[in-house]
Amino acid sequence: MKTITLIIPAYNEEESLHPLYDQLCLFTNEHQQYSWEILFINDGSTDKTACIIDSFIAQDSRVAVVELSRNFGKEAAMLAGFDHATGDCAIILDADLQHPLTAIPEMLHYWEEGYDDVYARRRTRGDASALRKSFSRLYYSLLQHTSDIDVLPDVGDFRLLDRKCIDTLKQLREQCRYTKGMYAWIGFRKKEILCDQQERIAGASKWNFFSLLNLAIEGLTSFSVTPLRISSILGSIISLVAFIYMIIIIAKTLLWGDPVAGYPSLMCIILFLGGIQLLSLGIIGEYLGRIFNETKNRPTYIMRQYKKQNDTKE
Ligand code: UDP
Ligand code: MG
Repeated sequence: MKTITLIIPAYNEEESLHPLYDQLCLFTNEHQQYSWEILFINDGSTDKTACIIDSFIAQDSRVAVVELSRNFGKEAAMLAGFDHATGDCAIILDADLQHPLTAIPEMLHYWEEGYDDVYARRRTRGDASALRKSFSRLYYSLLQHTSDIDVLPDVGDFRLLDRKCIDTLKQLREQCRYTKGMYAWIGFRKKEILCDQQERIAGASKWNFFSLLNLAIEGLTSFSVTPLRISSILGSIISLVAFIYMIIIIAKTLLWGDPVAGYPSLMCIILFLGGIQLLSLGIIGEYLGRIFNETKNRPTYIMRQYKKQNDTKE
């Protein structure tokens, strides 16, 4: 019998866990042709998440938990999930029930047909605001044009990954993680299905504007060097223009003498060039910071313990 691991990262999800578990039990009872592993990643929750998961473990031998030593973020939590999943394939699921379990049979169907990565594209975006939707559209078109990988809009982490994909993703251990880009980068046979994203059943989204902005910059800088290239191309063009302008000024001075003038143009040029220089430095800095973080070579997450019925590892 094939084993399927449900990887569920959870950060302060005390209100969602019981409804989630109830739905999972109903669902797995209907699909007993597979053996199921329910793997929670407790991403340093400060509420009752840990206790609730422990109570599931006590009553259910299919449930396991990886507890991280603090909050490492969903990207790292998912890596912890890949590391500890034992199934022939894994399905990544949000703890807040935004990902409809009804899409899973279709995913399994395509997996059985031989696809390695079956991902769900959102037909609707649940409670996302119009502004967020348009930002997201703009961002993905930017990302697709600047990087050589095809990161798809409206596709999140809700997907089924074959063992081959999991083992490959486990090898990608960078600190600055942008898992969405990694799915595209590893390749394998992909299949898209459509699903309706649900509203969050309880609690609030863990993302705010700045964490989304960070993830967006992460995506741009970890999968392409186009920003660096743009700044060097821009630098070359400006230098060329500046050189031509310098010749014009020298010629003018030699031919007609030099009445002291040109304060406004001087200011414009200084400010403009200063701005461009700071921008380029910032872009270089983004990459340098990433090099700095990666060269420390620290583990992407730290596990406090792995727990399962009759099996606890510190
Ligand atoms: N999550 C996590 N660590 C974090 C933030 C979120 O493990 O630091 C989990 C969270 O518990 C949920 C999933 O990642 O299961 C998606 O988070 P959320 O619902 O906040 O994001 P959204 O659905 O708004 O994209
Ligand atoms: Mg959510």
